[in-house]
Amino acid sequence: MSEILEITILGSGTSQGVPVIACDCHVCTSTDPKDNRLRASVLISHNNENYVIDAGPDFRYQMLREKVRSLRGVLFTHEHKDHIGGLDDVRAFNYRESRDMEVFCSKNVEEALHREYHYVFAENRYPGIPLIRVNTIGLEPFFLPSSLRVVPIEVMHYKMPVLAYRFFDFTYITDAKTIAQEEMEKIKGTKVLVVNALRISEHISHFNLQDALNLIHEIKPEKAYLTHISHLFGTNKEIEALLPTNVYVAYDGLKIEMEVNG
Ligand SMILES: [Zn+2]
Ligand SMILES: [Zn+2]
Ligand SMILES: [Zn+2]
Repeated sequence: MSEILEITILGSGTSQGVPVIACDCHVCTSTDPKDNRLRASVLISHNNENYVIDAGPDFRYQMLREKVRSLRGVLFTHEHKDHIGGLDDVRAFNYRESRDMEVFCSKNVEEALHREYHYVFAENRYPGIPLIRVNTIGLEPFFLPSSLRVVPIEVMHYKMPVLAYRFFDFTYITDAKTIAQEEMEKIKGTKVLVVNALRISEHISHFNLQDALNLIHEIKPEKAYLTHISHLFGTNKEIEALLPTNVYVAYDGLKIEMEVNG
């Protein structure tokens, strides 16, 4: 049976977002709406259920902007603040849908959530705090509530393990710097790839443009989109001009639809 997977780019910016507070550079002052990049996140819609990958500090606004009325789960990639900082706002969905939010994350992220959101896990819970149910995941495939199969892929963010996720032939990779060969095998066959590319110059913990293009060259997806973009990279138009034909710059609000075999 053929099903539709709809992906919406909720945020395509690096940890500070674009524009950066108090920056007057030509990217931060650009009038092109594509140069406004919230913190990196995507919305995945499948069988009338919605999921987000990461819930950073812009989560609330991203839900409002995309008019998301229902959210079944949050999959976290790693514990950096630009990816977990918005978790408190899942409360809105707790009230609206009268259920706990399903959270899928590694053991490391779970520990970080306990530190950063200690009140969520407290014995004596203050009324109105978020209700979450943590599903600890490893590197084995698992299923989301809408029976969507997810393949977690470990990528390295300098020394920090990060989970990339594959759903059918769609793969989302953020905050990667290196990928071990056995994890690369899981990415092969991807038709649509979203991958982080911070800027042109090298960075210790993020792919730069060349690193991302090398991965794209190896995987050969039909289409690839760059995300987690810094104001140092250039404007959307300037970056587009540097890219091969099947590689695009992701921008906030971009929707990608894929027919998949369920
Ligand atoms: Zn990040
Ligand atoms: Zn700037
Ligand atoms: Zn990070």
